[in-house]
Amino acid sequence: MPNQNAEYRSDPSVPEYTLTRKKMRNMRMRIDSRTLEVRVSAPHSTPLWRIDSFVASRASWINERIAALAAVPEPLVHGAEAERCRAVLEEWLDELMPVWCERFDVAPPHLSLRIMRSRWGSCRASTRRITLNLELARRGYGMAEYVLVHELSHLFELNHGPRFYALMDHHLPDWRERKAALGPL
Ligand SMILES: [Zn+2]
Repeated sequence: MPNQNAEYRSDPSVPEYTLTRKKMRNMRMRIDSRTLEVRVSAPHSTPLWRIDSFVASRASWINERIAALAAVPEPLVHGAEAERCRAVLEEWLDELMPVWCERFDVAPPHLSLRIMRSRWGSCRASTRRITLNLELARRGYGMAEYVLVHELSHLFELNHGPRFYALMDHHLPDWRERKAALGPL
């Protein structure tokens, strides 16, 4: 979306970024996951040199994030790659599901594996059906396990309230790190 207020900044000593001035208290920086552009918003009163030095101080973080985002493969489509993902995920779940159903003390739920565009998984407690995104096969065993535990927790707690997070903390104490590593879809 073109933004009249946005200014493209390119200085050899600072990573390239697009600056938007806003009525706000603190500077914010993010990387557009699609275009890999660095976007900074800053209060009207913050001098440009401070914004430049803020961005420059985070140059290595910016480079790491851009490399990680660029390494994410193209979205899955139906076909051989999706079927390979299904086979991988099925194998992992053959191992994970009995272990986690025992820990949660629940009968195995119905399971669907499919390409999902906006979420890693879902759980319908009323029909006891958990759906997992085939994409998880490309993100690793630990990520698939994290999403499985998240969805199993929804069999007990529908919403992401304190009791939901207490369940996650109890069962998978490092879930926050896994969630951060997985990132948004
Ligand atoms: Zn959830």
